[in-house]
Amino acid sequence: MMRVILAQPRGFCAGVVRAIDIVERALQKYGPPVYVRHEIVHNKYVVESLKAKGARFVENLSEVPPDAVTIFSAHGVARAVEEEAAARNLPVLDATCPLVTKVHNQGKRYVAQGRNLILIGHAGHPEVEGTMGQISAPVFLVQTEKDVEELDIPVDAPAAYVTQTTLSVDDTRAIIAALERRFTDIVGPETRDICYATQNRQTAVRELSKLVDVILVVGAKNSSNSNRLREIGAEAGVPSYLLADGSELEPAWVEDVLTVGITAGASAPEVLVEDVIAALRRLGPVEVSTLAGREETIEFRLPAELARV
Ligand code: SF4
Repeated sequence: MMRVILAQPRGFCAGVVRAIDIVERALQKYGPPVYVRHEIVHNKYVVESLKAKGARFVENLSEVPPDAVTIFSAHGVARAVEEEAAARNLPVLDATCPLVTKVHNQGKRYVAQGRNLILIGHAGHPEVEGTMGQISAPVFLVQTEKDVEELDIPVDAPAAYVTQTTLSVDDTRAIIAALERRFTDIVGPETRDICYATQNRQTAVRELSKLVDVILVVGAKNSSNSNRLREIGAEAGVPSYLLADGSELEPAWVEDVLTVGITAGASAPEVLVEDVIAALRRLGPVEVSTLAGREETIEFRLPAELARV
């Protein structure tokens, strides 16, 4: 009998629930199609389900026809995108997670104080592109401690940092320490920008790693927070694998394994966790339990025009 232990919390966060809700309510209120710029959240199953209901996913606003309802994804967008939508008079619903917006606002405040703004994040991630594009001043992106050494900012110039919401707490700790060593006048947010959901899922996977032989992280390859969960499992010395659903389970990962831990990134629905458990059951008998973990009660308000749909 293989034991399966589920991390708690896992899967959907409040920002993802809100973003999906916005698309579904927009479809109900305005009828299909509605246009979503970028994957609403980084999960193929979610995107395909919404496509089936009439959502159309585009990378550029130029692909959106005149007057079509347009939704910005949970990752946020640059000011140029907002301005393009306004110039075209597109009716916009903004599904940017409020915690991402909080980082934008924090960055703007630092720039208004005359500080050089440093963003800790991954190049090319849409959240990072959105945050950099929200600030009307150069933003210095750092991904590693080495990048900190190479920053072209005088060491005594006023500086500030913000971070991508879905990084690993440990990674940012090392980079923040490097920034504080290098710059004599640097400030950062009082509470870390790593969001509550990322933090809670990382704490839970650390707990899980003490109890299991293998960790399966349910999430998409392009999901930042899912990748961090896999890395944390591996750093704790437990073989850890990222898989989109049960079809990607490699029997070799769990061969002769007694206890398997499962968690899911913030954009992965519970149905995919169940799909992975079903795939394990096809290999042999399985007993499932769930770790005690932190209860999450956070909910984000919907845009006013959709609240009554
Ligand atoms: S992971 Fe955090 S920042 Fe990203 S959508 Fe969820 S709550 Fe918002």
